[in-house]
Amino acid sequence: MPELPEVEFCRRSLIRWSAGRRVVGVDVPDPRSVRVNRGDRPSVGHPDGAAELRKVVTSAPPAEILRHGKRLLWRFGDGALLLHLGMTGKWAHAPNRYVKVRLDLDDATALYFCDPRLLGGVVPTRWEEGQALLREGLGPDAWNDPLPALRGARPVKIALMDQSLVAGLGNVQVMEALWRAHIHPTTPCDALTDAQRARLPSAVREQLAATLALFDGAEEIVYVEEDRSSNPFPIYRREGQPCPACGTPIARMIQGGRSTYWCPGCQPAPG
Ligand SMILES: [Zn+2]
Repeated sequence: MPELPEVEFCRRSLIRWSAGRRVVGVDVPDPRSVRVNRGDRPSVGHPDGAAELRKVVTSAPPAEILRHGKRLLWRFGDGALLLHLGMTGKWAHAPNRYVKVRLDLDDATALYFCDPRLLGGVVPTRWEEGQALLREGLGPDAWNDPLPALRGARPVKIALMDQSLVAGLGNVQVMEALWRAHIHPTTPCDALTDAQRARLPSAVREQLAATLALFDGAEEIVYVEEDRSSNPFPIYRREGQPCPACGTPIARMIQGGRSTYWCPGCQPAPG
């Protein structure tokens, strides 16, 4: 499932593929992927989605792409596309059987939005409005902005996955960052020690940078859930395997409905 590094990879890929090009055609094989509002359900596709999309992307050359958390805003002159990948969406330079939107470029290549579960989408908008939509409801960006103070009785893992507190982190990035910071995932925010608070921001940064580095030179990204044979993460889905840092078997628990992996050696329970 795409988190900040996967979305940032998507941003860099779209810039690389579209640099110096123009969009000359649009096809929307599945109108449900073009939405009026970001939060619309897949069953509520944009009634004029293909026409609105075409208007935006053919009006001006593709320009900068902003990212905040897991959202992207792609500028085309005064227009823009708000992009979100949801659980399974990705932009690709080659088609697969899940193509929902296709943008034809003037060099006879195309960009494909592929999304098996239809939880991502494309929202045609204006550049000015889009900049507000990009950040609407989200906390500071986990990569570009300082990490906000963590307060309250909530477990630190749950807090860090709250997009309104800090945007871009999901299940995998948070559990790996907590392992790097030697913080047990159930630690209440208020119980974090000064040393843990001091370690956390650099642990989050190192974790995001390490994941981004995995995609260096890749043409397309394979999400870790898509290919269960390959898992580049030190503790994610490694229950019972030795911790790469201390050798203690990695443990697993369910937290907030999701699997959390942690190392009982590196991350002692709070209290
Ligand atoms: Zn360990």
